Amino acid sequence: MSEQVSFNERLGAASPEELEELWKAALREFMGQIGVPKRYAEAEGSVLRHESWTSMSADWISLPSVLRQQRYGELLEVLREAGYATRAECLRCGDCCRKSGPTLFVDDLRLFEEGLLLRNQVYTLRRGERVSLPDGGTMVLKDETLKVRDNPETGHCLFLDDDIDRCQIYHGRPLQCRAQACWDTSDIEHAITHEERLSRAHVVGPDEPVAKAILAHESHCALPLLADAFAELAEGNAQAAERIVDALAYDTELRPLLTEKLPLPADELDFYFGRPLIDVVRMYGVRVIADAGTFRLEPIAPAESKDPGKN
Ligand code: SF4
Ligand code: SF4
Repeated sequence: MSEQVSFNERLGAASPEELEELWKAALREFMGQIGVPKRYAEAEGSVLRHESWTSMSADWISLPSVLRQQRYGELLEVLREAGYATRAECLRCGDCCRKSGPTLFVDDLRLFEEGLLLRNQVYTLRRGERVSLPDGGTMVLKDETLKVRDNPETGHCLFLDDDIDRCQIYHGRPLQCRAQACWDTSDIEHAITHEERLSRAHVVGPDEPVAKAILAHESHCALPLLADAFAELAEGNAQAAERIVDALAYDTELRPLLTEKLPLPADELDFYFGRPLIDVVRMYGVRVIADAGTFRLEPIAPAESKDPGKN
């Protein structure tokens, strides 16, 4: 934290020349990290020509300190793109795998069929869930999305072998990973906009006992309905709180019940029912205090509510 404070202070007091030195040092370090230090001059030229830098350097003297930090953060994204753009091929550095596990598309159903991907290695982001975007923003999902889990210790994709920076399922890796090319994002953008996302209904057969439980859970705990209930609560409708608590109780009780009765493996629950509702509702700016079957909602600061899954 103190390092961050001192960097921000340095940034706040920097002249345009010092600012240029700062980002050039950051770019040099990044080019080393991604394995192409010899392409530094090429990346530097792209940043110097980029509108983000030309406008920022022109405005710098008049920018207040807080805006300086924000603009510098935006420039760092430009640096990353310029660095990646100097590559002509995948160096298998694992950088993209360290961001998070991939989103799955219908093309990836074969991974389940071939046993390369197991249900306990994926989780569901349900329709209406708020997720984070690579640029730091968030969006509400219009469609259900399945993702490969992250390694809970590193936050990297579960299949990344961190010791050797290699994908453990490289030859069968999902569509998103095959389309990933950090120097040219056209294939990945095409996949995201044109390919159908994989959903639970593609993976879980209609005759499996859990299929009915998924439908019942969706009707009791649908996130768009919860969003409505939170909006009504904010307008003073106290009855909306009852609907929220009912959904929380349903989700919280269903999981251990089905683990015992069906039975379902506990480590597959986030695939069948999404992340626990008690965690997901943080996106509405509340913390849930659960105590002996009762639920209390407490408001939290906006920064704390930013606990979304990654898209
Ligand atoms: S696509 Fe991913 S693994 Fe390949 S070079 Fe780019 S960041 Fe590294
Ligand atoms: S599945 Fe393999 S290639 Fe894809 S993000 Fe994970 S480690 Fe990387």
